[in-house]
Amino acid sequence: MAEAELHIDLGALVANWRALSDRSAGEAGAVVKADAYGLGLAPVAQALAEAGARRFFVALAEEGAALRAALGAGPEIFVFGGHMAGDAGLIRDAALVPLLNSPEQMARHLEAAPGAPFGIQLDSGMNRLGMEPADWAAVKGRALDLGPRLVMSHLACADESGHPMNARQLATFRQMTDGIEAPRSLGATGGVLMDPAYHFDLTRPGIGVYGGLPFAEARPVVTLRLPVIQTRQVAVGESVGYGMAWIAQEPTRIATVSGGYGDGLIRAMAPRLSFHHAGTPCPVRGRISMDLIGVDVTALPEPPETLELLGAHQRVDDLAEAAGTIGYEILTSLANGRYARRYSGA
Ligand SMILES: *Cc1c(COP(=O)(O)O)cnc(C)c1O
Repeated sequence: MAEAELHIDLGALVANWRALSDRSAGEAGAVVKADAYGLGLAPVAQALAEAGARRFFVALAEEGAALRAALGAGPEIFVFGGHMAGDAGLIRDAALVPLLNSPEQMARHLEAAPGAPFGIQLDSGMNRLGMEPADWAAVKGRALDLGPRLVMSHLACADESGHPMNARQLATFRQMTDGIEAPRSLGATGGVLMDPAYHFDLTRPGIGVYGGLPFAEARPVVTLRLPVIQTRQVAVGESVGYGMAWIAQEPTRIATVSGGYGDGLIRAMAPRLSFHHAGTPCPVRGRISMDLIGVDVTALPEPPETLELLGAHQRVDDLAEAAGTIGYEILTSLANGRYARRYSGA
């Protein structure tokens, strides 16, 4: 095997979506922005559509156009970024539903595409995207007359279910939307796992579908195996890699694997990172290079052909912890890796 292999278990992915869908009081959509969190937009979205997902969310109109090409007509594709200048053609041709974020976006949409569908994004306290209460008050009557496909907002602290910000945002969202006829949406993965009061008509899970926290019961979706290029014996006192960052205290077998920060493997992980081989942990030694990593395989009876970085023994969130980041960043970092992608189980 010359190439590192990123394996995506679409069966596990679909099972995760179904589990989050079952827990949702209403319908569950699916968030597939950033190339389906780095795992591949078309195969992921097609598997979810086959499993019954009818509403998809992307960040940008360009992603929406790629998603429409993958899914064909039928599923509803919402764009979090709304209707940005220059997007009218993409929105029309791919039948996208922009989530209008401001009165300016609403004016732009109504002028460029009168009669075309839209949704509304409200800001309930995160101060990121969406209409603030005063914006909404100014356009609410007109917007609701036109029948928005969805009225949504997003929680800032849903990964901490007990955070007081959740209840504050829920109250604000309800103040802004109670009594409207349009379908409503507030919760992403974290929101699905909280009280059903946060679910409304449609939930928008992303990370949990891909096997990440806060959905602790998620099945792992990603396996990443890197090929070993060369194995060598290192004597006491010898160093491994750039900067002599690791020095052998005892005779050690080092396997050099093909993969590095040029493949989205974050360099800061090195001191806390292990690979696995048939369940045996094999710690990283020295620094992560652009294309190479030194791994201590002394514990293995034979020099391995491949070493596993992600899989049942080590999950996306374990890597995130080693890197001091979140699972979302680990997954999206993999998108630029030199990996052969293999899909199974759809
Ligand atoms: C990314 C995103 C989601 C999905 O969030 P997860 O935490 O991955 O489930 C939902 N809604 C909005 C507005 C988002 O930006």
